[in-house]
Amino acid sequence: MREHKEDIIKILLSAVILIFGVVASKMGWFNEAVRLIIFAAAYIIAGFEVLKESIENILKGEIFDENFLMSIASIGAFIIGQHAEAVFVMLFFGVGELFEHIAVDKSRKSIEALTEIRPDTARLVTENGEIMLEAEKVNIGDIISVNPGEIIPLDGIVADGASSLDTSAVTGESVPTDTSIGDRVYSGCINLSGVIRIRVTEAFSNSTASKILDMVENSNKKKANTERFITRFSRVYTPIVVILALVLGVIPSLITKQYSVWIYRALMFLVVSCPCALVVSVPLTYFAGIGGAAKKGILIKGGDSLEAMANTNTVVFDKTGTLTKGDFSVVAVHPQKIDEHALLGIAAAAEYHSNHPISVSLKAAYGKLPENLEIGNVKEIAGQGVETQIGSKTVLVGNDKLMAANGVDFRDCHHLGTIVHIAVDGEYFGHIVISDTIKPQSKSAVSTLKKAGMKTVMLTGDSERKALNTAMEISIDEYHARLLPEDKVDILEKMLNNGGKVAFVGDGINDAPVLARADVGVAMGALGSDAAIEAADIVLMDDNPERIVTAIDISKKTSLIAKMNIYFSIGIKVFVLLLSALGLCNMWTASFADVGVLVLAVLNSIRAAK
Ligand code: ADP
Ligand code: MG
Repeated sequence: MREHKEDIIKILLSAVILIFGVVASKMGWFNEAVRLIIFAAAYIIAGFEVLKESIENILKGEIFDENFLMSIASIGAFIIGQHAEAVFVMLFFGVGELFEHIAVDKSRKSIEALTEIRPDTARLVTENGEIMLEAEKVNIGDIISVNPGEIIPLDGIVADGASSLDTSAVTGESVPTDTSIGDRVYSGCINLSGVIRIRVTEAFSNSTASKILDMVENSNKKKANTERFITRFSRVYTPIVVILALVLGVIPSLITKQYSVWIYRALMFLVVSCPCALVVSVPLTYFAGIGGAAKKGILIKGGDSLEAMANTNTVVFDKTGTLTKGDFSVVAVHPQKIDEHALLGIAAAAEYHSNHPISVSLKAAYGKLPENLEIGNVKEIAGQGVETQIGSKTVLVGNDKLMAANGVDFRDCHHLGTIVHIAVDGEYFGHIVISDTIKPQSKSAVSTLKKAGMKTVMLTGDSERKALNTAMEISIDEYHARLLPEDKVDILEKMLNNGGKVAFVGDGINDAPVLARADVGVAMGALGSDAAIEAADIVLMDDNPERIVTAIDISKKTSLIAKMNIYFSIGIKVFVLLLSALGLCNMWTASFADVGVLVLAVLNSIRAAK
């Protein structure tokens, strides 16, 4: 409010003088000239900025803006002797502008509140104790200390201590997570219980909190079609209205000779025609919706992504890491020639460089690998597995497709689970059965989407049997198994060609092509995954599939509000324009309608943040 003090004073002062002027005219106080001066004073106080801006804009070549409309209308009214009306037009326009500024400031502040997730300083641990330093100046590899109650300023790995973290500012997930030595921690999370020391792994500008902020701040650059429509609309609309006003002022005047009646109506026309309600409220709606979503750990990269999400009728899920937890555990080892531990060792060594959830589980199951392994020439084949050179031997670790492609005679397994086959120099060594669990929220997410009339599909590179089992368990509409990443793109393209408005939800591991191809790519569990953040249009920081439902709800609500504002503003305007042309309203009501629509539309926009 303080920022707007000057404007408020001007409005009040002008209003008081206006009322005094009106009373004076009614009572017949003073003579005509003095009353004119009173009105002129009120007019200048209320309208000086608007007049100035419209002259400046005309000099810049932007003629038809709202300042111009208001200036012409009010000056015209003044000239034809409607002094009080002229002041009222300017005054009320000022009220509308003030209201608009307050609303825009407010939603900007709510975005700025997000910056609190990124502290500017860090407590650097040095040989001489701890020093406070600008977070920007901390280097990768430095150790920082974070006390309970503080926000973690930089991403890193816990080097000392244990604590629980409130990740809600980043992920929207309210349950605290425990963390101890060796765990990755992300900037923006609040340290709740113990002192922890963190070895920094990312520079300040690359930290999770910085990325969240960048994304939200840049989201207004990517406009929704609706927003672009408004810009185009007001570009043609305003000149048309000015021409109509001219026609309305001139032609009937010449015919009826009632000049002041028709000029007055034309001026009213100009007042009502101001498109500010649209120009202000529609972008504000998207801004508010995106800001509100960010607070729930849902990052939407722009109005265009939001609009696409709102129009979705098909949600396609990747399986591993999206509908399932992606933390596999080894359930059986079936070697052909060597013992179980040795087979696991070969698999773990071959997967040494891979980050795929399957690799992680194999490495975890084996434990520490010997130091002197010579692992080279690693080829990770997406959707199949890995081919690695260990010493002089070529090792293949992956599914039946990989084996078949390399002519290995492999054996099938009766176990339910993901089967990882191992072959050394083309000879089959056996397989390992690993199993993944379905996320507890997957089933309810799918059923909520189905209830909302959406088609749900699962795509996976895993075996037919495993896919069928998962699909049954979560009752998804349709599934496709044994897919390579390019097969996923093909299936998606078919859906798009059949009129599907497709959202693809994946974890970003080897599914960037589909994320990019879908109408909206949604990366889930993106905390810490750069690839997913890059490729996706919408980023869900935590890995709960129910968030997809929330994201769709927010998008739908926001688009609906934007549309309401458009229909409502244009509807009322057209109605009042007709009344003005027919002489069924006066400048007071015209002005009231104009600002009233603005205020209501802006109030409506702000709802999108809730
Ligand atoms: P999803 O489509 O379910 O996300 P992926 O495309 O990541 O699965 O993988 C598909 C299949 O490819 C896996 O089920 C597995 O059989 C095989 N695979 C992929 N990467 C690896 C790997 N690093 N090691 C072993 N097998 C792998
Ligand atoms: Mg995957």
